[in-house]
Amino acid sequence: MAVPKRRVSKQKRNSRRAHWKLSLPGLVSCPQCHEFKLPHRVCGACGYYKGKEILKKDA
Ligand SMILES: [Zn+2]
Repeated sequence: MAVPKRRVSKQKRNSRRAHWKLSLPGLVSCPQCHEFKLPHRVCGACGYYKGKEILKKDA
């Protein structure tokens, strides 16, 4: 329910926000190097995606 901002005490506002937490991003392990990476994205550690090398580390 909408309540005017000044009607909500600091304690009420803070205890409502006490349940806010950061959630972990989805993590999968790379099939190439078994590092954790974001799903549907090129692996940052080895540069592979779908079994092919997309990013070259040193060229
Ligand atoms: Zn990898």
